[in-house]
Amino acid sequence: MVSLAGVEKHFGALHVLQNINLKVMPREVVVVIGPSGSGKSTLCRTINRLETIDSGEIKVDGNRLPVEGSHLARLRADVGMVFQSFNLFDHKTILENIMLAPTKVRRTLRKQAEVEAMELLDRVGIAAQAHKFPAELSGGQQQRAAIARALAMRPKVMLFDEPTSALDPEMVNEVLNVMTDLAAEGMTMLVVTHEMGFARRAADRVVFMDRGQIVEENTPAAFFDSPQTDRAQAFLASVL
Ligand code: ATP
Ligand code: MG
Repeated sequence: MVSLAGVEKHFGALHVLQNINLKVMPREVVVVIGPSGSGKSTLCRTINRLETIDSGEIKVDGNRLPVEGSHLARLRADVGMVFQSFNLFDHKTILENIMLAPTKVRRTLRKQAEVEAMELLDRVGIAAQAHKFPAELSGGQQQRAAIARALAMRPKVMLFDEPTSALDPEMVNEVLNVMTDLAAEGMTMLVVTHEMGFARRAADRVVFMDRGQIVEENTPAAFFDSPQTDRAQAFLASVL
């Protein structure tokens, strides 16, 4: 569903992505972990082309990047993204937030978009908040709204970049549970997270990044129980 081959990226002198080779198969959940500054967010951002790459190739559902114009819009529709900050439009209700992209980009009729939006809000457990504004919701509810908004475009893959890092601890699980449900329903997912419990439970594969490189890649059980490299061992010792 997503494949990166020989991807290189610099920010000036900083070699932020070094020969990245990574595949996410349909229905697979890949969790990316690694120290701060290792390039995890940059990796996510290259996949839906919020960042350009210097060389290498990225494909989403067989479509090669870079793409331009209407192809870019279609690519972005295929790739749903959820960030640490919820990025909802403050002056629109939750329902309007969810309906915006389907009506503007997919040209779904308002009535149909509303029915679909309410179904999604129900699925993430916040249908009762549909007519409220983002500021009236808790952080966990806002992040679940952001997930519903991404899902409204019917993406083929969902990218999550530390979706629970900005949340108060008691709200982390309500968001992780929505993500776990999504994974169980067969969504293809690439998740950057510091939630090791979620990685162990929900990941098909764990990718460990350090200093711009994929250092290790394994099943969660193998990775957490017997990390192969010094770097992974040191990282796990610092977070577990
Ligand atoms: P964190 O866990 O803190 O979110 P990360 O693994 O997501 O870290 P990135 O955000 O991808 O790391 O950043 C990788 C490196 O690239 C960092 O050293 C960062 O300072 C640098 N960097 C990121 N974005 C830019 C940019 N637009 N311009 C210059 N340097 C950048
Ligand atoms: Mg990051």
